[in-house]
Amino acid sequence: MKDFKIYSPTTLDEALEIKAKYLNNILILAGGTDIVGHLKDKLVKPKALLSLSKIIELNYIEQDENKIMIGPSITHSEAVGSEVLNRYAGILVEGCKVLGSPQIRNIATIGGNVVNASPVADTVPPLCVLGANLTLRSIKRERKVPIENFAICPGKSVIEDDEILTQISFTKMENNDKGFYKKTGQRRAMSIAKASVALKASVQSDKLSDVRVVLGAVAPKVILAMKTAAFLEGKKLDNDIAQQAARIVESEAAPITDLRSNIDYRKMIVGVILERGLLGLR
Ligand SMILES: Cc1cc2nc3c(=O)[nH]c(=O)nc-3n(C[C@H](O)[C@H](O)[C@H](O)COP(=O)(O)OP(=O)(O)OC[C@H]3O[C@@H](n4cnc5c(N)ncnc54)[C@H](O)[C@@H]3O)c2cc1C
Repeated sequence: MKDFKIYSPTTLDEALEIKAKYLNNILILAGGTDIVGHLKDKLVKPKALLSLSKIIELNYIEQDENKIMIGPSITHSEAVGSEVLNRYAGILVEGCKVLGSPQIRNIATIGGNVVNASPVADTVPPLCVLGANLTLRSIKRERKVPIENFAICPGKSVIEDDEILTQISFTKMENNDKGFYKKTGQRRAMSIAKASVALKASVQSDKLSDVRVVLGAVAPKVILAMKTAAFLEGKKLDNDIAQQAARIVESEAAPITDLRSNIDYRKMIVGVILERGLLGLR
């Protein structure tokens, strides 16, 4: 690897100044679990690196009456250990638990997982069903983007060259809210998703409402399964409904064949994951 100038500011304002100066010639480094590999393989050739590791104001999990606010530098292990997230955002915790290995989870950040814009990212389907918004800041402005509008295709997103992701926020799950995040991969652990499903719904006497279903690894970006969610709305959970929902979700998946899996398997397994997840909510 070549020598880079490495900036390691201690405040967000300083980081934003540096980003504005270098724009796309500087690469943000959070945990580095994605980016270091890309640097080694020369897939990216920045003039400088901007490490976020010393910026304490990007590392927090906060709550108010209705909302949770997460700083992008929170690691997956920190999320798994968070009382607030376990209580109000269990679906996200499920995603963080199955990402990589303990060593990866200890350094990889949720912000890095989101900005990476990968269709297989394990925190994105959970954040989508939670209705998360991303706060993107530059020295000139601050804007909020719904997470489902962030990624454009693998590795590309709407983030501008002068922006840094500074917050991920979403509404707390309430008492009747239930859900899951499940993925299937080559192995039980340390495995990138071949297909994944997140679902959130309000469940009262087995009846579903406010259903959101999001699929990972079965399209160029994480997708909202709108037809499946509409079908499940108002339905009472039983084996037949779960099976019918599985057939609909298969039709919404638009996977490709690649090194990890093929189209037929991915379509079939996304239905199986949904059906099992739904029955687990009873
Ligand atoms: C062995 C291994 C196993 C893995 N397994 C999985 C897995 O099972 N599931 C999965 O989803 N991923 C997996 N990954 C991928 C990776 O670990 C995750 O995507 C991780 O969350 C990335 O976080 P990071 O902090 O390391 O990001 P980095 O590598 O530091 O950054 C990733 C990207 O985000 C940008 N970035 C980071 N933070 C910000 C910010 N605040 N604002 C703007 N841009 C930012 C960086 O510039 C870079 O483009 C694995 C990686 C490895 C090496």
